[in-house]
Amino acid sequence: MKATVYHGARDVRVETVPDPKIKDQNDVILRITKSAICGSDLHFYRGSIPLDQGFVVGHEFMGVVEEVGKGVRYFKKGDKVVAPFWVSCGHCGNCLNGYPTSCTGGGGCFGFGEALGGFSGGQAEYVRVPLADTTLEKVSEGIADDRVLFLGDILSTAYFCAEWGRIKPGDTVVVFGDGPLGLLATASARLFGPSRIITVGHHDFRLELAKKMGCDIAVNAKNEDAVARVMEITHGQGADVSLECIGSTSAVLDAIKIARPGGTISFIGFMFQELPIPMLDFYLKDLTFRGGVCPAKNYIRKLMPLVESGKLDPALIITHDLPLADTPRGYELMDSKAENAIKVVLTP
Ligand SMILES: [Zn+2]
Ligand SMILES: [Zn+2]
Repeated sequence: MKATVYHGARDVRVETVPDPKIKDQNDVILRITKSAICGSDLHFYRGSIPLDQGFVVGHEFMGVVEEVGKGVRYFKKGDKVVAPFWVSCGHCGNCLNGYPTSCTGGGGCFGFGEALGGFSGGQAEYVRVPLADTTLEKVSEGIADDRVLFLGDILSTAYFCAEWGRIKPGDTVVVFGDGPLGLLATASARLFGPSRIITVGHHDFRLELAKKMGCDIAVNAKNEDAVARVMEITHGQGADVSLECIGSTSAVLDAIKIARPGGTISFIGFMFQELPIPMLDFYLKDLTFRGGVCPAKNYIRKLMPLVESGKLDPALIITHDLPLADTPRGYELMDSKAENAIKVVLTP
């Protein structure tokens, strides 16, 4: 089969690799119908986190069940499914507590190398899904792939960020980030009834889309001081909730500056750096800082009706749908934002 293979910084190639095979009775082989390049793939693409050379990448994908192991109970050949980015057993203490991304029963991340479980990724024609019964989720009939694909990762992650922000009706919400996560967090925040959503980004073309997805006031931090602008808009009060969707130190520090006393900062940006948090400000303002890696498995079924009804339309962020053979160009586009790229999806 054809698959996207990592060879080093800024070097991914679509190559012929061996077809995946059932290795365990709980495995399923999926024929991928749609996959995506995620912002977190850009970390290894840019060489900022290590990844094994020769590894098949991609952790945001969906497809049709092609083959099932003899222990699989809930899926059969022909089922359309979406995979969360993390494999989970459903039975270990962490899974039972609702944290499948901390699974100790054989879980791990697709497409992120041996360190995270060694599960080959889905930017490919086929993929092996271990622990299929407790990992995969069925997709409702008659719904386009583009609309459900992101339930496995970025849509669930963005919603999780909004939910963890504890947004209440009437709140002022500030979303840091105008990338795929920031845009979907803007759309998700709207569902919780805030009085206004201020989306802070760096690209006019993305902020225009943010306005279509629920943002009331877009702030381009390239042209204006976002902290001063938010304080002006809120008459010096500050934001009730900030959603950090970049993984940026400066965005977290800005979120602390603009937080009202008692405010909440929820973060989902992939942070691998240490943060110099001004603890005295934090303490004196009674802030709450929460976030982390989204247990996407828990959100797929919960959010599916919102996608079906159109209350969430994640397909709005797709700017490029490329054939799998063009994956390297997809990475270049996501990395450089050329052609006003926001989100690139891949069709095998
Ligand atoms: Zn991702
Ligand atoms: Zn588990």
